[in-house]
Amino acid sequence: MRIVDSAPALAEALERPRSGTAIGLVPTMGSLHDGHLSLIRMAAAECSNVVASVFVNPTQFGEAQDIDRYPRQLDRDADLAATAGADLIFAPTVDCMYPDGFETWVEVTDTGRGLEGDARPGHFRGVATVCLKLFNIVAPDIVYFGWKDAQQTAVIHRMIRDLDLALTLRLGATVREPDGLAMSSRNTQLSTEERERASLLPRALTAGVAAYTAGDDPSDAALAVLATDNGIEVDYVQQMTAHDHRLLCAAVRIGTTRLIDNVILEEPA
Ligand code: AMP
Repeated sequence: MRIVDSAPALAEALERPRSGTAIGLVPTMGSLHDGHLSLIRMAAAECSNVVASVFVNPTQFGEAQDIDRYPRQLDRDADLAATAGADLIFAPTVDCMYPDGFETWVEVTDTGRGLEGDARPGHFRGVATVCLKLFNIVAPDIVYFGWKDAQQTAVIHRMIRDLDLALTLRLGATVREPDGLAMSSRNTQLSTEERERASLLPRALTAGVAAYTAGDDPSDAALAVLATDNGIEVDYVQQMTAHDHRLLCAAVRIGTTRLIDNVILEEPA
């Protein structure tokens, strides 16, 4: 598996396919798990060339401490990505993405507000900016993102439409551990005891779905489940609409680790 770390190296390494075939891009922050790999597999099933990017984007992190402890394992990621069908890893340096004097930002104003946008000021500005740069450098036909980060996908979708980007967005379902916890690179930061606690998050969201189906308030039901463990600090439990789906979204802190997840309450009619 070839790993390239700059835009010129990417341009040289990426074979532009013949017309009629596609380049797929799966943007990630690395420390790959089955959720990421499911997106790479989706891409490999329909694209002749699949690029997986691995970049821990400093501009989407608020707390310096958070980015410092974000897991990094590029060689392992490259092996896993190759097995799932990626052809190339684009792991740019911070200088490549943010050269000296960088001062241009993409802000998706409304979709980027509320939930994660409020909890992590500046987060979606960093996400949208880095994604636009990745899209420009790789020039993919199709980009792949996970439902797990539903508000993020809504922000990217809005940016694609607003800025007339000639690419298609595909969404992959959330891949979960056997106890329901959504796979996340951050799960490795949980202690054994915290990891046990974390399974309450998907259980709370499932309770929310049941309440919604019964005509009750899904947020209240989820909050009631989360309240049974005082080791879980709730950031928010809120409904949102993304890609015409009604979702119940939650963010919690367990110790120093912040986890987010969501479930579908209602699909489009
Ligand atoms: P990240 O490396 O966490 O920035 O995630 C990179 C991409 O993988 C994003 O589009 C995420 O939504 C997606 N992703 C993360 N976790 C999962 C999961 N458990 N299932 C499916 N996709 C995921």
